[in-house]
Amino acid sequence: MESWLRHATGAAALLLCTSACTTLDIPPRDSVGADGAFATLLRGNASQLSVGTASVLPGQESSEQTTRSHTCQLETIAVVVRWVEPSLSAGQAVNLCTAAAHAARQPLHAADLNDTPVRYQVTIVSDGGGIWQQPARPARPELVVAFWFPAGDDADALRARVISTTAHEFHHIATAMAGQRRWGARREPEAYLAGACALLAIEGELRREQLPGRHDPRADSLLPAAARRSGNAGNAIGRSLQAFFSGDHMQRDDEDGRALLRYCQQSIGFPGIAR
Ligand SMILES: [Zn+2]
Repeated sequence: MESWLRHATGAAALLLCTSACTTLDIPPRDSVGADGAFATLLRGNASQLSVGTASVLPGQESSEQTTRSHTCQLETIAVVVRWVEPSLSAGQAVNLCTAAAHAARQPLHAADLNDTPVRYQVTIVSDGGGIWQQPARPARPELVVAFWFPAGDDADALRARVISTTAHEFHHIATAMAGQRRWGARREPEAYLAGACALLAIEGELRREQLPGRHDPRADSLLPAAARRSGNAGNAIGRSLQAFFSGDHMQRDDEDGRALLRYCQQSIGFPGIAR
């Protein structure tokens, strides 16, 4: 439910469900930004939670079939990255896989779900856009999650998108599995915070321009409430995290970085060190 991310701006037809519905209305893909928009649909109570996802990428209809895959395992979390050459090199796919596994692990650990078996599929799309939905299925005994990401031109930027989106969406999933309230004013800011914290902890660096906050409030009148809330929550958390920066970027082990990671630990229970 209600976790359309940052980049869905100016979407006249962006509709989505709220807490009680069983379907997710998907925005047209020409209404989302270049980085795509992502949602997680959560249904049921903590013990019988079901999880579905949607990924919306802009551009002409993608028709490619992925030809390469790489699988990696971190504790109970298995990640498979699928792509078409030459959008990623094999080495970049290995790094992406490891980063995605760490980004999923942090919110799960923060919710004491260390033992949860997870299968996470990351598909890199290099020939356009489309809408991909993963039908809802029970989160237990195995949590299955899939998202599709635009390849873009830059493997580092792609990895950062995957880390922040993964941590954001897994924060929603993990807190729901742990029985925490899924709605309320704090949920969406905390999910954005999870994205920023994971980026710093995993990549070792966070730049100001990577903070959430690209939602354009001029689009608010066109957006349904949940998307509006999400966009503005991203802007608010981005503004508040600016205060942690003394320069344009921080490192995991410098003064600014340590202060932010402490805040991540205190506010959403993230581990200070990712690896
Ligand atoms: Zn969200």
